Amino acid sequence: MSLLYWHLDPHGVQMYAHADRGLQWVRQSCKCPACGHTWQAVAPRGSAGIECPKCHEVDLSFVWKER
Ligand SMILES: [Zn+2]
Repeated sequence: MSLLYWHLDPHGVQMYAHADRGLQWVRQSCKCPACGHTWQAVAPRGSAGIECPKCHEVDLSFVWKER
């Protein structure tokens, strides 16, 4: 079960719920500090929270922005 709102698109990219934060998105490669899983994710810029799609480790202090 996922703690945050996201789903995997047909290409396996993790897509976070867009809520009502406009249309600016951040796409980046992520690496889980707990299990080492790497994946691609897209999330609204300025939103917070990241969840590993494999082990479901969550970091609520993570903020999505250009890096
Ligand atoms: Zn993980």
